[in-house]
Amino acid sequence: SSYYGNNRGCNKEKLILNFQLKFNGHVNSMLKLAELLCLYNLHVTMLLSDFTHRRLLLHANAQSHFAHYPGFRFVTMPDGLPEDHPRAGERILEILLSLKETGRPEFRRLMESTDRLSDGSARRPVTCVIMDGVLSFSIPVIEEMGIPYIYFRTVSACSFWAYFCIQEIIDAGEVPLKGKDEDKLTYWKKEEMDFMVSSVPGMEGFLRRRDLPGFLRVNDVNDPGFQSIKIETRKSTQARALILNTFEDLEGPVLDQIRKHIPNLYSVGPLHSHLKARLSAITSESSRASGSFWEEDRSCVTWLDSQPAKSVIYVSFGSVTLLTRNELLEFWYGLVNSGQRFLWVMRPDSIIGNDGESQIPLELEEGTKERGYLVGWAPQEEVLAHPAVCAFFTHSGWNSTLESIVVEMPMICWPYFADQAINSRFVSEVWKLGLDMKDSCDRMIIEKMVRDIMVMRRDEFLQRTYHMANLARKAISEGGSSYTNLDRLIEFLRAMIV
Ligand code: UDP
Repeated sequence: SSYYGNNRGCNKEKLILNFQLKFNGHVNSMLKLAELLCLYNLHVTMLLSDFTHRRLLLHANAQSHFAHYPGFRFVTMPDGLPEDHPRAGERILEILLSLKETGRPEFRRLMESTDRLSDGSARRPVTCVIMDGVLSFSIPVIEEMGIPYIYFRTVSACSFWAYFCIQEIIDAGEVPLKGKDEDKLTYWKKEEMDFMVSSVPGMEGFLRRRDLPGFLRVNDVNDPGFQSIKIETRKSTQARALILNTFEDLEGPVLDQIRKHIPNLYSVGPLHSHLKARLSAITSESSRASGSFWEEDRSCVTWLDSQPAKSVIYVSFGSVTLLTRNELLEFWYGLVNSGQRFLWVMRPDSIIGNDGESQIPLELEEGTKERGYLVGWAPQEEVLAHPAVCAFFTHSGWNSTLESIVVEMPMICWPYFADQAINSRFVSEVWKLGLDMKDSCDRMIIEKMVRDIMVMRRDEFLQRTYHMANLARKAISEGGSSYTNLDRLIEFLRAMIV
């Protein structure tokens, strides 16, 4: 019998959450959805790439956490890339392309092999596949086997919708843009980047070309990454349902647009706090599965404990972002010169061309020692909720954005790629929860924005963040939109199990 709740239909149910990519954000939200389904006694098999699985188990407590749920387990398959492939920065797309080549036979073998999908006793049939919407290489296999599938896109609704409209954007001549700027930071000429995009319904008037999701920043529509995103997103209409980690009061107008094409849409976010709320309603457990790929350095929490209330800006650019040494220095000067305290997550693999020499310029050492603290990886949710923290310098990854929203944290956004560019536009222009620093990395701008968000314009942002956090809490409370949608989703999944 199951650890939590009742035991309804327990032996018949099996879902596969199909997930391969390396983004920590994708894995985190997949794990959270998996646990929510486990809480309601659905059996979940989570498919990861060998690489991701190793990373996850090496540093995370995911395995032991999920031992609570007898209906849960991990299975793995190769992503087809060599072991030493960086799987970071822009090269992350190569995972998608590699899976396209090698993934299907592997996936077929996995689905057909009774030993790997059985748990020692009788094999239970797979009743439904829930997959990250960028992995359609698996669809022909799933369809052949007659199994229904559902998409779970772990990105924001606004970026999903922009991807969905790619053809319209091309037809309107708004992508690709001609002319490559010499400046490495932008592919297009500055003026062209500021043109408004008119071909994404609902976003007219505030979406500029530079806010389009990063994969659309191409000079050639035949770019394989661009093509792949375009095709994958359109395929969502063939799925039985779409799950999104967002909530109606945050992205309602965009969700309404998507529903015109995919009516069976479940917005169930913010997943991390939704899971916490449901867990505490069902059990007295408050522990959480860490989906981190790196060991969390808890010394930063001790450091925060000794800082004054609301005095620290937390700086973190997620699991995939890479910084050049020049960018690193601009950030360093900007942060130190702002005179504010900062906690900075600098992943060991995040600096391009790190030659092992000390990163701190001598003249900054003092300011860093006095007011700054660096770690390789932090327990982010805990850090954001810490009383000493009052702002978040983020790359606008979707999980980071949601984690920031629920704890009323104003943001400075420095989007790196993918959905981050459009998320940061929504943060600054639509929700007005922070400032957008996209396409620049200049110590003077950084210094000014840090002062603005922490001191000069603080009250203005706090009103907005307070309001949005309340709406998020409402969404996941009984009767709220995400709460009701999750109940509906669980009923929908159960109805598939005969
Ligand atoms: N994260 C963390 N510690 C860190 C940095 C990030 O635990 O030092 C977590 C963060 O809480 C979030 C995830 O890693 O859940 C990053 O996901 P996001 O979607 O923001 O960005 P991605 O890494 O996918 O680009």
